[in-house]
Formats: sequence, structure tokens, C-alpha cells
Amino acid sequence: MSAAQTSAGAPLEIVQLEVGLLENFIEVIACPETGRAALVDPAFEVDRLMRVLRERGWTVDAILLTHTHDDHIAGLDEAAQATGAPVYCHPLEVATAKTLAPEVRAIEDEAFVQIGKGRVQAIYTPGHTPGCVCFFLPDNPALITGDVLFVGSCGGVNYGGSDPRAAFDSLQRRLGALPGETRVYPGHNYGKSPTALLEMEFATNPALTADTLEAFCAYKRVPVPD
Ligand SMILES: [Zn+2]
Ligand SMILES: [Zn+2]
Repeated sequence: MSAAQTSAGAPLEIVQLEVGLLENFIEVIACPETGRAALVDPAFEVDRLMRVLRERGWTVDAILLTHTHDDHIAGLDEAAQATGAPVYCHPLEVATAKTLAPEVRAIEDEAFVQIGKGRVQAIYTPGHTPGCVCFFLPDNPALITGDVLFVGSCGGVNYGGSDPRAAFDSLQRRLGALPGETRVYPGHNYGKSPTALLEMEFATNPALTADTLEAFCAYKRVPVPD
């Protein structure tokens, strides 16, 4: 196979489920052609994830974690056991993930996970926690953001380990480098729609229109770090 053929992937299908009491979104990502799939943030109602897999005839090759706050990993042990799939997360989140799943692999910034004929890229986006990762599907394009970015807002930057400066950099520099037509799949259903285009968020979301660290911290009501 030539380099040209391996450089592009096939668009992946994304099934978004709202679960639990905190309006969490979790996803099944799948290559429709091969039936290979990945789970993102298996938190609550893992039985619903399993039903999607059974109904579609999909097999899970990977479990991807945006971060290890409890509302994103509460069902990780169940999901890992049911699928036998390895878990991929930021190196700083490996120890926590290992308490719930036997096989956990640190994923490097900008590294790809192959899902059938498609691929998912890890984009390090620290700030909400030091180990936050967004997952970019370049061939859709789509971005699974966890608590880094919601439709119309963003996750807290006042948790233990939070860093407003890192969050601002992640939002402006890392997410700002992605194509505007990227569809954002947030970790919670806190917006006026379950997903939104990244360019619309950059135009209207106060977490992104705050284009200085000072403005961002004012929006988040946190002190500006030294
Ligand atoms: Zn969180
Ligand atoms: Zn959350």
C-alpha cells in the first residue's frame, strides 16, 4: 500500500448517547465498513453501549478516555471487562485508569488510534485537568472534547489540578488550529444543541470569544494566574 493510500482514512460513524444524571455524553465511534469500533468515556449506562454494539454488530478495539473524572469513567471497569479492549489516555491519567481496567496505554500527543479503516487523533488539551485529551476524527471531521469545551461554554478550571492558563492555551491554540467545519461532540449536554460546528463556537461561545487570558479568567470567574 502506498503512503498516499495510508495517509487518508475513511469517515467514522459516531453514535452519541446521553447517560447518567449529569447529562454526560458518551460515544461509540465505528468504521461502518469493517465493524471495528471504539468507546469514549464509558461512564454510566454501559448496558446501552453494549446494546448499540450488539445491534450494529460492532467489535470494540479501543476505549478512549478524555480524562478520568468519575463522571467519565464510572463504567470503565464494566466496559473494559465486557469488551476486553485496551484503554488509551493521557500519561498522567494512566494510574487512575489502571485501577479500573487491566490494559491501559498512554497515548502521545497527536498520535493516532486506528479504528478499522478510520483513525482518531489525540490532541492534548490540559487545563480542566492536566491530562485532558480531545479526540479528533480528521476524516469526518469531528472532535470529542470531554470537559474541555461544551456547546456554548466550557468545563471548570477550578478543580484540583486545573490550570486556567493551560485551558486558555488549549482552547485558543490547539482547538483553534483545527478546521472550522469540525463538529464538536462535548462531554455534557449543557448547550442548546448536542453538537455544534467549531467555527460557530469560535464565533459565539464565550469560552472561545474571550481572546485574552484575562478575559477568559473573567468569564470563568477565576483569578488570573501569575
Ligand atoms: Zn471533568
Ligand atoms: Zn464531566
